[in-house]
Amino acid sequence: MIAAGVIAAGVIAALAVLGWLFIAPSAQVFGRYPYKRVQPERVVAITFDDGPNEPYTSEIADFLDRRGVRGTFFQVGVCVERHPETTDRLLAAGHVVGNHSMTHRFGTYLKPGAFRREIDETQVILRRHLGRTPALVRTPWLWRQPVLLRMLRRRGLEPVSGVFGHPLEVFHRDGAAQARRAVARTRPGSILIFHDGFDGRGGRRDQTVKAVKLTVDGLLARGYRFVTVDELLGVPAYAERP
Ligand SMILES: [Zn+2]
Repeated sequence: MIAAGVIAAGVIAALAVLGWLFIAPSAQVFGRYPYKRVQPERVVAITFDDGPNEPYTSEIADFLDRRGVRGTFFQVGVCVERHPETTDRLLAAGHVVGNHSMTHRFGTYLKPGAFRREIDETQVILRRHLGRTPALVRTPWLWRQPVLLRMLRRRGLEPVSGVFGHPLEVFHRDGAAQARRAVARTRPGSILIFHDGFDGRGGRRDQTVKAVKLTVDGLLARGYRFVTVDELLGVPAYAERP
């Protein structure tokens, strides 16, 4: 009985370590996947995954524009096809757009070549709208493994991790609570992650909109300056050649 308990505990611990290697925002064991840039200056990058998803993406963009803040949006190919005018508008307003896969389905990590196609198809769609080729990518659920990171780098794509504004954000945790945690967790050089959609499936995001407003104003009041991810990391946002 005790032996069975020890084995179960061992299995759980092994799974936890494995899970950490593959999806923890700060894990770098399989290769560079930056989640911050430590520095003395109070700068922060705010990022959004899983959009575009209306009206929430535009509500966030309207607010950021009013505050003179530029964000980085990791977009899902099928969502861009659903709301192409939103992606166009983000680019025109000076925000940066990166690749967050075509369909945001976990199964694409399990079939050989499937995730590569997800990335490539999304690059084609984004290139059509942006007139340039994204150089930033965030894999769904921040999943990483050596072969996947090598595939991204061969394509000139920089994977970008970050810290979650709030771990329960996708379940519509109250926006004010999300913002309190996001502000408290921010350090000079942080990359904050919010979601303007849910796993590329759209969904209500009004609490995220509220959280973003409170987080941005809270950080501005603390003397933070917002930059895009490429500016923070000192890497290009787009490939030199279209
Ligand atoms: Zn995502």
